Amino acid sequence: MSTAAKPNLIGLDPVKLTALLESMGEKPYRARQLMRWVHRRGVLDFDAMTDIGKSFRERLARETALAPPEIVSRHDADDGCVKWIIRTASGSAVEAVYIPEGGRGTLCVSSQAGCILDCSFCATGKQGFDSNLTTAEIIGQIWHARRELDSFEDGAGPPVTNVVFMGMGEPLLNFDNVMDAVDLMLSDYAYGLSKRRVTISTAGVLPGLERMRGRTDVALAVSLHAPNDELRNELVPLNKKYPIAELLEAAGEYMSDLGESRDPLIEYTLIRGVNDHRKHARELAALLEDFPCKVNLIPFNEFNEVSYRRPSASSIGNFRKILQDAGLVVTVRTTRADGIAAACGQLTGAVRDQTRRRERMLRRGESGASSSGLIHSERGDSRQTARPRGTAR
Ligand code: SAH
Repeated sequence: MSTAAKPNLIGLDPVKLTALLESMGEKPYRARQLMRWVHRRGVLDFDAMTDIGKSFRERLARETALAPPEIVSRHDADDGCVKWIIRTASGSAVEAVYIPEGGRGTLCVSSQAGCILDCSFCATGKQGFDSNLTTAEIIGQIWHARRELDSFEDGAGPPVTNVVFMGMGEPLLNFDNVMDAVDLMLSDYAYGLSKRRVTISTAGVLPGLERMRGRTDVALAVSLHAPNDELRNELVPLNKKYPIAELLEAAGEYMSDLGESRDPLIEYTLIRGVNDHRKHARELAALLEDFPCKVNLIPFNEFNEVSYRRPSASSIGNFRKILQDAGLVVTVRTTRADGIAAACGQLTGAVRDQTRRRERMLRRGESGASSSGLIHSERGDSRQTARPRGTAR
């Protein structure tokens, strides 16, 4: 069997791993043993898996692989946050960020190298789309984080208690691989995370939201960023295809299917002079009046390619107060990991390949977005330019 054809066991969810081992003549408990070694103890060497018979270990070593993606570099911030740059099979790089907070450790993972959605304020979108991550590349981010933090079963390092799909890419556009990775995150034989502590964050891919129903019961975050379609069309071009009313309805249906009192998180990136005016806050409060949810305000994280700016602390406070006075539960995301460019929307990986790819696409007059048929928008249009500051005031 050639190396390329060997199944990579680290990326097989419990069902697929069990099926593969059964096809090799083994009982289902073998899959549980293997998952424990790989995902709970961080062991990749089949020889060290002592509760599996020697001859089967040798067969596994011959016919399968256990290959997490490669770490390119690690960056530690003063506040305990850690960012890893990870190479994908396609030759691109993606990022994962660990954010410790009290007893909690949140890992922000990427689902795609680049992104086709091209939200006007997001650095990942500026690279264009390169590729979907494989399940091994997604689960590899948590595997690496646990190993690097020495928090596998026998380690004493800080735990990874939460995973948020808020790194690079749109998780619902890489649905199957993301869901398989989620299954591993939740499995007691793998990472054993609570379904309330794994969050899929989406810009609003409706078919994906519909597919989530019945497939998973993890937490949901919706990237809203605007209280009306006109403004959201500008910030999140996907809105032209899936407008706000339909998005909130689909999100509400997913949550109510769960049959418990669980609310989605509404993410709202605050950009100075664009969507941070009091009238936007009032409009948002009215929009969400009858929609059970929590609101997370994300002060815009600035990066070079756009002229958008972060609002002042006082205007963020005013915005928050208007929502709170209307009865909404609101949090403001604090910026962490200063100095390692690990904040929301700043995750760009090592972009050389993707940038060149994008330049080629633009020269040919196509874009990742239009060639996918997903959204009908052009690149390089006015969305790249922020409105003159303060015009909305
Ligand atoms: N595609 C997913 C994950 C994106 S990243 C989604 O759209 O939800 C997670 C969050 O960070 C999203 O809400 C995204 O809109 C937001 N974000 C992206 N760029 C940002 C920036 N520069 N500043 C603040 N938030 C940003």
